Amino acid sequence: MKILVVGSVAYDSVETPEGKRESQLGGSASYFSVSASHFTEVGMVGVVGKDFRDEDLRMYESHGIDISGLNVVDGRTFRWSGDYLQDINTAVTHETQLNVFAEFAPSLSEKHAAAPFLFLANIEPSLQLRVLEEMSSRPKLVACDTMNLWIDIARPSLAELISKVDILTINEGEARQFTDEEHLPSAAAELLKTGPSTVVIKRGEYGAALFSDKFNFAAPAYPLAKVVDPTGAGDSFAGGFMGYIAATGDTSEEGLRRGAIVGSTMASFAVESFGLERIRSLSREDIEERFKAFVELTRFQPIDGSNGLPLR
Ligand code: AMP
Repeated sequence: MKILVVGSVAYDSVETPEGKRESQLGGSASYFSVSASHFTEVGMVGVVGKDFRDEDLRMYESHGIDISGLNVVDGRTFRWSGDYLQDINTAVTHETQLNVFAEFAPSLSEKHAAAPFLFLANIEPSLQLRVLEEMSSRPKLVACDTMNLWIDIARPSLAELISKVDILTINEGEARQFTDEEHLPSAAAELLKTGPSTVVIKRGEYGAALFSDKFNFAAPAYPLAKVVDPTGAGDSFAGGFMGYIAATGDTSEEGLRRGAIVGSTMASFAVESFGLERIRSLSREDIEERFKAFVELTRFQPIDGSNGLPLR
């Protein structure tokens, strides 16, 4: 198994300008693992309640996702509800019910503890830290994500977590909130000082910006005619990004740049439908074609000759 992910496995109730869904399968670990499963082997660590639908377990399995680390316990599955009615790029949370996650203490199998790539998807930061501590040796690459709730109520453990990862993925609003810096490059510079060597700032319909000690890179979002449900875009981005890097083993600058475009490719599919509907039913051709569209979207010819721009 190449990538281990810990994060939420949830039933979401969402409202967007395109409609409403009740109790649809979601959660940060769900979006991440389905997205990454198109590229590499993924193992999931998490917990669900006895109310978790059998068809949802089968869906993970049909994507080759190893769910031996997904505990089914007495109680209710994590639930989140929210809307995107005011701003399609920003979720407004109505309610978060941790339910079975409130008592969850992950313990990794030997196989999971040896995974070379680890993604600590959005969940309570002390759980993310615990999974990192349970790894038998330091993975080749550790990335994490988080959200405003944990900045508000669990900042010390979140800061500790960020100091221990290689890559942090974070929304622009959360980057500003965590650092108190309005200007994104300044927020990224502050975050880089706290530990990670790369910070990916997710900007919804404006794409994602990569900041590192050595280079910066901007990946656009695909110009879709319609966004149906933005839930899971960030986790699907991370799944494509990490999935590509784990599949190729390429952690070089070029690998990270290409990974960011693969991430944007997967995020663009995630938002085209409610929940996981689109990213769970993609063909290889769908992904290849959209990736090529990104190559075209970002292509331009450097200027020939030694003079560069026609400046006067
Ligand atoms: P995003 O990629 O940021 O849109 O993540 C969306 C997913 O995050 C939803 O499917 C929710 O179930 C999940 N989520 C919302 N709030 C939390 C939370 N406090 N902890 C963990 N997961 C959450």
